[in-house]
Amino acid sequence: MSIEANLSQVTQQITDFTRRYHRQDNSVRLLAVSKTKPLQALEEAYQAGQRLFGENYVQEAVEKRQALAHLSDIEWHFIGPIQSNKSRLIAQNMDWVHTIDREKIALRLNEQRPEGSPPLNVCIQVNISGEASKSGIALSEVPAMASLIHSLTNLRLRGLMAIPAPQEDEQAQKEVYAPLHQIFLELAATDSMIDTLSIGMSGDLSAAIASGSTLVRVGTAIFGARDYTTA
Ligand SMILES: *Cc1c(COP(=O)(O)O)cnc(C)c1O
Repeated sequence: MSIEANLSQVTQQITDFTRRYHRQDNSVRLLAVSKTKPLQALEEAYQAGQRLFGENYVQEAVEKRQALAHLSDIEWHFIGPIQSNKSRLIAQNMDWVHTIDREKIALRLNEQRPEGSPPLNVCIQVNISGEASKSGIALSEVPAMASLIHSLTNLRLRGLMAIPAPQEDEQAQKEVYAPLHQIFLELAATDSMIDTLSIGMSGDLSAAIASGSTLVRVGTAIFGARDYTTA
């Protein structure tokens, strides 16, 4: 199937789940995860109307952004792990960062965001799978991290992000998401800028949308399987 056909299928699934769980129409945005995919694939998705793209590797993300600078209404989201020596490139080139899980990274991004650029939109990455994941902070640490980010004028806290460990079934996926959704609602109640719960991938869209997702991150279902062998 073409990227255009895949996109319309994923969009339809999102609409179906949104209705099934009595969410508002258009309350869940689609981030097209284009890591390892060539520029042509992103251009094809763009032609089909896609505007939000997610990348995991800093160098690749920067090269793609520069090559597609003429498509100026793309919103670029960084969703990979952040090494501190790469934070400047992220601060200079991305519109969003989903993977803030250390104070030091928040401070660096704030300091390195170029003057004159709008604040960088950020989400705090939360570890909801315990020892199964090395990335993300504990739920109990979210309030302190949120208040740190609130004090940084070049960052704008938009919400929370998680990558749960795979679960057996949809019920288990929902149980893992429940406490995250709860904290998200509490945070959002205190700050009208907080509107993003970044959960849901190709394999758990239904559970994520049932659990309050406002942005799903989908790669394979749009662009096909990734090939790492030639990298
Ligand atoms: C790769 C990736 C995705 C997309 O995964 P698919 O299984 O290809 O849909 C989503 N989120 C993150 C953080 C990723 O790294």
